Amino acid sequence: MSQPKTTAELRALDAAHHLHPFSDMKSLNAEGARIIVKADGVWLTDSEGNRILDGMSGLWCVNVGYGREEIVDAVAAQMRELPYYNTFFKTTHQPAIELSAKLAELTPPQFNRVFFTGSGSESNDTVIRLVRRYFDIKEKPEKKIIISRRNAYHGSTVGAASLGGMAPMHAQGGLPIPDILHIAQPYWWGEARQGETTEEFGLRTARALESAIDAMGEDRIAAFIAEPVQGAGGVIIPPATYWPEIARICRERDILFVSDEVICGFGRTGKWFGCETFDTHPDILVMAKGITSGYMPLGGVMVADRVAEVLLEGGDFNHGYTYSGHPAACAAALANLAIMERENLVDRVANDIGPYLKARWGALAEHPLVGEAPMLGMLGALELTPDKVARTKFPDVGKVGTLARDFSFRNGLVMRAVRDRLIIAPPLVISHHECDELVARTRKTLDDTWGELKRWGWIG
Ligand SMILES: *Cc1c(COP(=O)(O)O)cnc(C)c1O
Repeated sequence: MSQPKTTAELRALDAAHHLHPFSDMKSLNAEGARIIVKADGVWLTDSEGNRILDGMSGLWCVNVGYGREEIVDAVAAQMRELPYYNTFFKTTHQPAIELSAKLAELTPPQFNRVFFTGSGSESNDTVIRLVRRYFDIKEKPEKKIIISRRNAYHGSTVGAASLGGMAPMHAQGGLPIPDILHIAQPYWWGEARQGETTEEFGLRTARALESAIDAMGEDRIAAFIAEPVQGAGGVIIPPATYWPEIARICRERDILFVSDEVICGFGRTGKWFGCETFDTHPDILVMAKGITSGYMPLGGVMVADRVAEVLLEGGDFNHGYTYSGHPAACAAALANLAIMERENLVDRVANDIGPYLKARWGALAEHPLVGEAPMLGMLGALELTPDKVARTKFPDVGKVGTLARDFSFRNGLVMRAVRDRLIIAPPLVISHHECDELVARTRKTLDDTWGELKRWGWIG
């Protein structure tokens, strides 16, 4: 990089040349983006010297926290030795081999093989290719339809965004592609009928899968894909009855079950993978984000032995990416996983910091603005509502969420707003004291938001 520039200079260049993801560029350029200059542990520093607690682990990925020299050294050493080579034409290399074996060890026993990609989106595009290829080889080419859920997030390429159930994404560019079907999500607060218990709602929503299979015909359905906990959809933790019923349906039907573990994988729910927390038994497991704690871009698709056995009989799979198994990214993943194991981070989430934060986060439900404050592992949400009992929404959905999110930044805490739901996904290494800090800043944010809504006359 060149000479250090002032914040104003950087903002002007950013506005002139840089298109940001998921952003209204006109208003962002007018306001100016916040420039992050460095980070350590769970703390970000911006170009104006503010220290901000990163309650989102970057984008759900920096599981081991910032500033891990060990990952940096592993990547640098690998870059010196072999910065790049492909795995297409009967070649391979040690980082990809070692990481494949490590993932086979860490994932549930049915998984022993991985296909590497560069991201979660690419992984889910691979899933579409792979499940359709699987049924082609089995001479059931009419089994093509993949069932997903409304408000799911599976990435942003054409294929992954089609698998996802985000209406605002589908509205741009004629998505979804054919043969993707979306069913209801297990979002009790937002979608249950008045008087319906979480248990009843969980069962009813799960059975939407069975009805969809019956309606389309089992001979046309290839797979069901879901995140154990919907992340970008608003940290939606399903009712206890949901996953057992889904698992039953998947067991009884000839379809593949794909667990998108891009967020839930690598310790976030208190087990290595979300499918273990919910005791589901996927045939395909999708990973990215936490696999390298975001230090390098990497994704992967694990296939269960029963799927791999079919694929191995099918000859060439005409699919792959230039950066599949990138050596420096694999080296970052290996160093990251070594840290997670050595520091027992998964166990820490399950038995120490997870329960600690959940107790304090849950207490925020007493705030007059908060309808529910669920938390699982290092994933939490706060549903903002004008009326907790009737579960009503604010007018102009998203406006109050954005207001609160902006207050949160001002209070030195990164939270994200999805509709009027605030969400957190802190690094797994966050300390007890930092959890107290996170909750104190959240409480202040709720009070600030409450005060502003009073001024607007939106609440009594
Ligand atoms: C982020 C995410 C993706 C997409 O990953 P990218 O690396 O951004 O392409 C896919 N699935 C889930 C569940 C995600 O949270």
